[in-house]
Amino acid sequence: MRNGSGRRPRRVAVIGVGILGACVGWNLARRGAEVVLIDAGRPGEGVTNWSFSWVNASNKTVTRSYFDLNAAGMAAHRELAGIIGPDSWWYPSGHLRWADDPAAEAKFLETAELLGSWGYRVEVSTGAEVRRRLEPALALPDEVPVVLYPDEAWVHGRHLVDRLVGQVVAGGGELRSGTEVRGIGTGVDGSVRTVALSDGSRLDVDVIVNAAGPSASHVAGLVARRLPMRREPGVVARIDCAQVPIHRAMHAPHIEMRPDGDASMVLHSREIDALIDTGEEPAELARLLQELVRPVVPGLAHSRIAQVQVAYRPIPADGFPSVGGVPSVPGYYEAVSHSGITLGPVIGRLLAAEILTGERDELLADFRPERFPQ
Ligand SMILES: Cc1cc2nc3c(=O)[nH]c(=O)nc-3n(C[C@H](O)[C@H](O)[C@H](O)COP(=O)(O)OP(=O)(O)OC[C@H]3O[C@@H](n4cnc5c(N)ncnc54)[C@H](O)[C@@H]3O)c2cc1C
Repeated sequence: MRNGSGRRPRRVAVIGVGILGACVGWNLARRGAEVVLIDAGRPGEGVTNWSFSWVNASNKTVTRSYFDLNAAGMAAHRELAGIIGPDSWWYPSGHLRWADDPAAEAKFLETAELLGSWGYRVEVSTGAEVRRRLEPALALPDEVPVVLYPDEAWVHGRHLVDRLVGQVVAGGGELRSGTEVRGIGTGVDGSVRTVALSDGSRLDVDVIVNAAGPSASHVAGLVARRLPMRREPGVVARIDCAQVPIHRAMHAPHIEMRPDGDASMVLHSREIDALIDTGEEPAELARLLQELVRPVVPGLAHSRIAQVQVAYRPIPADGFPSVGGVPSVPGYYEAVSHSGITLGPVIGRLLAAEILTGERDELLADFRPERFPQ
């Protein structure tokens, strides 16, 4: 094992235990590294718990390399489910999308065709067929084209994090929750040496992984690094319903929805996100989400809003992940990304390999931290 300064890492501190930190930590521990997971709050309760949590590459066609990384993310989820078991976190039930205006419809059908030409599995059917075969509770026009991506999924992020952290700790790793990293000490050669925690303790480490999600820019600042990030809040509501009437994640016109367990659903809408900065109260935003879902799933007429949260997407300024070591600070690595639910398992695997062997995977070539000028 080698860290950025060529020394063998004795101890790796992972700062932030959302899906990214948990996946990196689990892969490191599995390969024999000594891991300390540190979270200012509780593992899995950051943005990972307030995500639409859709595992996909169909919405990632902006560049071929970003699509490839997300497709590898989907495969890594399947592999992870095979290793740790799928119970309570992995729901590979596919994804549906349809629209109620011709421009949006033309665009998603064009994307579906492109994806098909890239070897991505896609099926196009009609509203009537979808109701008959897959989702009887939906109210959608009989003739409307509906795209089904059968290999997509949704993930229960908090349950996955709990499972991974449990395995790290069972294998001898350490979890420090409820304590924040306030400082990072470096040696004369600039390499990482210590982390200082808000509980007053100081840990000797050889490697740190910045997986602090929306706070990653602040943590980067602790090693005098500039990690520019976007401000892009989203609002997510959970509704309680006696029985969840849908079986998979879907983009209906104006509203995204998915199951969230046996008696709960998650709602999200980019249209409602756009109201966050108008000063509208979260409770009102949740009510608007509920209003948008009712015409699509009439059976939800008597659902109850259980929780609502405005969360910040952890997005580096150019919209792409920042993953890998930073050569000017030996021992410092980043795992910061939007679409972190899709990408967690693949980033975890590739970054752990890079930390322990020094090998930089080609899949991450366009997403290296060095691209941000210092
Ligand atoms: C509305 C919305 C919808 C989304 N939909 C999707 C989707 O459909 N599919 C998808 O793939 N992605 C989606 N995302 C993005 C995805 O949720 C995130 O990319 C992912 O959850 C990020 O995980 P993380 O581990 O980086 O961050 P987090 O889960 O926030 O974890 C970071 C952790 O770091 C801790 N921390 C911060 N600072 C410190 C410190 N100084 N010391 C110690 N601990 C610290 C925090 O307490 C937190 O627990 C969505 C995001 C939003 C907001």
